[in-house]
Amino acid sequence: MNRLGFQDGLTGRSQSGGISEALMVRHFAEKQGTQSLYETMQFVPDLFRDEFERTLAEVVALTAPLRATLRAQYETGRLFPMYQPDELVDAVEMYVRLTGNPMWANTSAAAARACVERYRQTWDLQELQMLTSLIRGESELTAAVSRYFSQENRALGLVLRDGNGEPSTGRGVKKKFLRISEVESFIYKSVPTKVPDLSPFTLDNGTKLAPWEMLFLLPKRAVGAGRGDTIIDPTMTFSVGVADESLLQVALGIENQGTQSLFIVYGQSEEDQRLKLNTHSLRHLQNSELFRLGIADTIITKRFNRRSVAQSYEYDHRSLAEEMDQLELPGAWEEFLGDSKAATVAKMIQAGRAQGPIVREFKRILEEEGDEAALLFLAAEADGFHSTPYGHCLNSFTVDPCPKHLECFSGCLHLSATDLPENRRNLVALHGKLKIALEAAQARPASTVGRDNQIAHAKVRLEGVERLLSTAPGDQVFPEGVDLSKSPARRSVLSGT
Ligand code: SF4
Repeated sequence: MNRLGFQDGLTGRSQSGGISEALMVRHFAEKQGTQSLYETMQFVPDLFRDEFERTLAEVVALTAPLRATLRAQYETGRLFPMYQPDELVDAVEMYVRLTGNPMWANTSAAAARACVERYRQTWDLQELQMLTSLIRGESELTAAVSRYFSQENRALGLVLRDGNGEPSTGRGVKKKFLRISEVESFIYKSVPTKVPDLSPFTLDNGTKLAPWEMLFLLPKRAVGAGRGDTIIDPTMTFSVGVADESLLQVALGIENQGTQSLFIVYGQSEEDQRLKLNTHSLRHLQNSELFRLGIADTIITKRFNRRSVAQSYEYDHRSLAEEMDQLELPGAWEEFLGDSKAATVAKMIQAGRAQGPIVREFKRILEEEGDEAALLFLAAEADGFHSTPYGHCLNSFTVDPCPKHLECFSGCLHLSATDLPENRRNLVALHGKLKIALEAAQARPASTVGRDNQIAHAKVRLEGVERLLSTAPGDQVFPEGVDLSKSPARRSVLSGT
């Protein structure tokens, strides 16, 4: 996840005198191999500009009260900087600050309920102000308030006191007080998960960034919010945190946290609610789409804050055909090979997607005898290039088709691995079948005629398939293998049984 700092607008004067403006977003890039925040910029395309600015402005407005609280806490090093440490503060007021829940009164007043409902729909702080004034005169507290001031919490340091500061042993919370220094110790000792995020961040250049400067702030561990009528008053809660990756994971349903994913909360059908979104999938998808549309790899690399172009290719999921479409051969090569199979093979060689004796020979000729001789060789030899169900073969079959094209995995030196999904599917299925065949042969009595041959046959193929599955795309699978197209298998259909 990239954590956002804030946005910048850049204005420049074009060469012809006009004024142009670009919007950049300052953010912290992930996967930079550093514990510090790695600060970088990203241009925002004009297409998304309005939506982007509107969204960020909304986030800034919604988090403003939290930011003000966190900033005051950060600058004073106190949890409740609005009070003096020895001050006695009304216990109900402190309940609202400690839990963030403004609804302390056990009221059935329709107007108060309506305020809560409207706030949940609009996030308008005026509704909370109205709620506060509507319940000000109420005398009965909710059960949640009594629970908060349980005997257990009182024993842990949440000491209720009278107006003179003496500990109050009587029942009830109304007209009782808390001493601020005691509440602060109670939080640090007994509910450390509610302590606000006060540690500054270190940037990769060594400077510090205060937590309140982060864009996405939220009430920490506000587990009650959204449950029943419970709401959080962002102007009152003391527990403010900085949103991090785990929040995003929960919201997108990647981490199983009960019912909190966006899909579960807002999904209209059961199918919608089962959805999950892996943020990294979007990165892969966008990376492949940009390649597919012919965007330069340098631009793609910058787009994803990568430090080397090679990293972008690791995220490239175009099909081989799509990748070949994007590749351009040197002009003279294109002219010589035209739209032939040899041109495809030349592109595969250029992209490192094919290996084998023909490729080696092509490279040797290219180096020793030059382009023309190499291309002549390729035009003659690579015409036999074909895709088998398990990989690519670069043997020349202009004269004689290969009789073993469904058995390339038995050790043929012409076979190159691919990352095509269909090849992989075939190999995984074949692997399963060969294992079953091997186990069946091994289970037969040792005296069974042909048992040893069957076991050896299955083992060779099984090992070949495993090797093919673990070979990098484009690499030769059996560089030391045999040329199966010329194998003795051609002598008799019974050979090798
Ligand atoms: S067995 Fe070898 S030569 Fe025959 S198709 Fe497979 S890879 Fe090509």
